[in-house]
Amino acid sequence: MLALPDRSGWLGWLAERGEAQLVETSRLVDDLKAEPPADARAVLRIWNEAQTALGNAASMASLISEVHPEPEVRERAEKLVQDAQKLDTDLGLDTQLYAVLADLDASGLDPDATRVLERTLRDFRRSGVDRDEATRARLRELSEQAILLSQEFSKNIREDVRSIRVRPEQLVGMPQDWIEAHPVGDDGLVTVTTDYPDVIPFRTFAHDAAARRELVTRFLTIAWPANDAVLQQLFAVRREHAALLGYATWADYDAEVKMIRTGGAIEQFIDRITALSGERAERDKAVLLERLRQDRPDATDIDTADVTYYAELVRKEQHAVDAQLVRTYFPFEAVRQGLLDVTGRLFGLEWQAVARAEARTWHEDVATYDVTRDGERIGRIHLDLHPRDGKYKHAAQFDLVRGVRGVQLPEGVLVCNFARGLMEHDEVVTLFHEFGHLVHHVLGGEQEWVRFSGVATEWDFVEAPSQMLEEWAWDAAVLAAFAHDAAGETIPADLVAAMREAQDFGKGYDARTQMFYAALSYDVHIHQTPNLTARLRELMARYSVFPYIEDTHMQCAFGHLDGYGSAYYTYMWSLVIAKDLFSAFDRTDLFDPEVARRYRDRVLAQGGRRDAADLVADFLGRPYTFDAYAAWLAE
Ligand SMILES: [Zn+2]
Repeated sequence: MLALPDRSGWLGWLAERGEAQLVETSRLVDDLKAEPPADARAVLRIWNEAQTALGNAASMASLISEVHPEPEVRERAEKLVQDAQKLDTDLGLDTQLYAVLADLDASGLDPDATRVLERTLRDFRRSGVDRDEATRARLRELSEQAILLSQEFSKNIREDVRSIRVRPEQLVGMPQDWIEAHPVGDDGLVTVTTDYPDVIPFRTFAHDAAARRELVTRFLTIAWPANDAVLQQLFAVRREHAALLGYATWADYDAEVKMIRTGGAIEQFIDRITALSGERAERDKAVLLERLRQDRPDATDIDTADVTYYAELVRKEQHAVDAQLVRTYFPFEAVRQGLLDVTGRLFGLEWQAVARAEARTWHEDVATYDVTRDGERIGRIHLDLHPRDGKYKHAAQFDLVRGVRGVQLPEGVLVCNFARGLMEHDEVVTLFHEFGHLVHHVLGGEQEWVRFSGVATEWDFVEAPSQMLEEWAWDAAVLAAFAHDAAGETIPADLVAAMREAQDFGKGYDARTQMFYAALSYDVHIHQTPNLTARLRELMARYSVFPYIEDTHMQCAFGHLDGYGSAYYTYMWSLVIAKDLFSAFDRTDLFDPEVARRYRDRVLAQGGRRDAADLVADFLGRPYTFDAYAAWLAE
């Protein structure tokens, strides 16, 4: 296991270990270029070592930059992230290194090594290493510009917090603890901002329709107009990048290494989901509109300034789910232990707590466990689940060490922000989801080649194992194993059934909203779009079931236009596969370990050794289909 430093030693340890790994990477590459072994496998082994060292520096740096309690350690880690990225870009454009790998005689290689070589050469070609010098120089420039534009795009979103000022009586409907945290100012008004902890409860609970509309409108204009120009530049950089490498569009370039393969297939997928979800979307929208008319009899349509509020009312009035009651069954400690028990039973794993003195992590909140299978230790996990200053604000799994057989065991980290007391059921679902990534990282971490270690499958498959594991957090028998209130009473099965019903409401129009986002992310990457807002309006009319709100520009704060690029469809794509994977399980006994073990061995444990479609087909005994997803939509 990776030996972490004592409390005071982080800064020096990080710098030294990070530096050493980067130096080791360069040394291995230099040796490879100077005197490449004659044997193809031996060359790949050295390349594997270099990639392992570079990955070790990058993983550690990226984790520590997000979680360490001391700002100077986080800053040092950020620097290390940049150094590792720069070295990675340099290697990708290193013509001499490419020549060594491209000249190998692959005829004697086994299937795994052959795949490593193919994937490696593909990575090099996608970096542009085989282009002329001027093209390579331009590609490097474009990469640098893209990084700067992406940082500017995020910064404009992060720093543009907007707000409204309301009278105290306009807060009717808001939870009491929220009202207490928002005192009235000297002028008698209360400030409500566009940050999530304000805007989410306000659009869900505030009775005052005009105030809701005002806040939602501000929320949908964050980073306007600054980011409109940034996006135009970013799309232009991507267009040129794809064109230089000989692709018709950025979407084609990006899709090539995903399950979906081509840009055109993205369009087909979006249209297919749009058609599948249409009836359900209209039905649920009609329920919302009917409920709205009880308050506003002349309403003819409903838009997103009202959707969240009326969806919550429908769930409460028509499905009788009281979120305040639900949370009493989910005290944090019991949920964490329950999650370990459930997944241990399913996947045949044991989680053995490691004492803090031995684990020596970055913070006392972190719980560390060694993972054993059939008595053999196969990895280590760290659960860092509560908020603190300067820590990453969302929920995600981070790699600490990627497993390489005989060299290093996998170590993974969950970074979340849950309360220490009672959890919302949504948070329990999130915990199961993120744990799905962690289990994938550990079980997929027994690989000879680091290229295939852990969550190393195509990017549009990555969410499927996690989306599937969410199902266990919605199952009455699974929850009964750990969800008890303070009096020791188990969560009633009929309450879980009501929760599921309430959750099902709105999934059709949610799918259509997702397809609107996916269409936007795809469309702006295949056409030059002079007016982004005008195009957004057209796409919203075609894909979403809710109308556009005048004078809004949501593209400017749609962060995924940067991170996902043309591939926002991936979340829904993974969900289609997750529903199909889940169809192999016996819904009346989710604890049945037989199917789970097969899934463990044929999908998770394979890492990136085979294409995701082949892993899925191997598990299901047939290629994946849309049937399970369609059935779920109709349920
Ligand atoms: Zn996820």
